[in-house]
Amino acid sequence: MLGAFVSELPVLPTSLLPADGRFGAGPSRVRPDQVTALVRAGSNLLGTSHRQAPVRHLVGGIREGLAEFFDLPDGYDIILGLGGASTFWDSAAFSLVRRRAQHLSFGEFGSKFAQVTDRAPHLEPSDILRAEPGTRPAGPEPREGIDVYAWPQNETSTGVIMDVARPVGTDADALTVIDATSAAGGMYVDASQTDVYYFSPQKNFGSDGGIWFAAVSPAALERISEISRSDRWIPDVLSLATAVENARKNQTYNTPALAGLVMLDQQVRWLNDNGGMTWAAGHTRTTSSLVYDWAERTPSATPFVTDPAHRSPVVCTIDFDDTVDTARILSVLRANGVVDVDPYRKLGRNQLRIATFASVPEADVEALLACIDWTLENALS
Ligand SMILES: *Cc1c(COP(=O)(O)O)cnc(C)c1O
Repeated sequence: MLGAFVSELPVLPTSLLPADGRFGAGPSRVRPDQVTALVRAGSNLLGTSHRQAPVRHLVGGIREGLAEFFDLPDGYDIILGLGGASTFWDSAAFSLVRRRAQHLSFGEFGSKFAQVTDRAPHLEPSDILRAEPGTRPAGPEPREGIDVYAWPQNETSTGVIMDVARPVGTDADALTVIDATSAAGGMYVDASQTDVYYFSPQKNFGSDGGIWFAAVSPAALERISEISRSDRWIPDVLSLATAVENARKNQTYNTPALAGLVMLDQQVRWLNDNGGMTWAAGHTRTTSSLVYDWAERTPSATPFVTDPAHRSPVVCTIDFDDTVDTARILSVLRANGVVDVDPYRKLGRNQLRIATFASVPEADVEALLACIDWTLENALS
């Protein structure tokens, strides 16, 4: 019975436990109201064709709700397609980049998108500005011949954020394309500073993955249309022109998973009812500060991101010194129902990564920190 013996982990005092122990950086916790909405949809909407009115009404409601949340300028539109942000990268390589993209690469997600356009045989090798994990490049560097500037607003693998502002001095019709997968719904953005602001809904929006949404500017819509009229071969499922055409009918090109749409719709309504983007951004600033302040005053811990201005309000990365076995902390927490504060696997650091997405209340963050403190004091050997 060695297995049972080894797995005997300390039991945390019940009074310390958070109401909801999920702190994952995506997929992330789903609020009970989202599940209730799903149960309600179970008796009518689920199992309906996406070409029929009830589903189109749902998609239309999400598009309107997101436009309200992001306070989209006139002429901007919300489009969507299946496959998530990773799929959107391929779509962008086909439907947004005319000739050459510039990428800021300072973690896993930014670097993956950079590789996609860099390797695309119909594009020129990309201009990639790199920075070590935990830091970030100074910003985009306008250059002749670059027609897309791309970076993540929040690099989820490291917890580093980047400002979202159009680079000045670029070619006239260059597009600013922002990966907002873990930022959207929890961070402020001035949408007029972007041409494409895209995300998957399994982070701040607490829904299922497998789908992407994007707020697109008139210039981006023009670029999509221009490339679709060129002789470039574009697979139908990846074509953004097809996504635009379908989105305007509140549809997707192929069949979406309806459960995720129902949960997303509920979350967008919840966010807008609570005070929208301003509320969400203020809330995550408060909850993330609890984590960073705690790390600053805990002797064995330090925020991984040294510059406080570069620290993410939604994904907090905290390093520990060698006296602390974070794998042990993770096991103790998990055995007590507090889960998914593991560091990004490829980063390989003695670290905890705590997501403070919009759905995570202050009280749960305080409870999590109390649980970690208790483990540090009582359960490290
Ligand atoms: C999670 C994440 C992705 C990948 O999203 P998928 O839906 O899994 O494709 C891309 N970019 C960022 C910044 C992310 O946080």
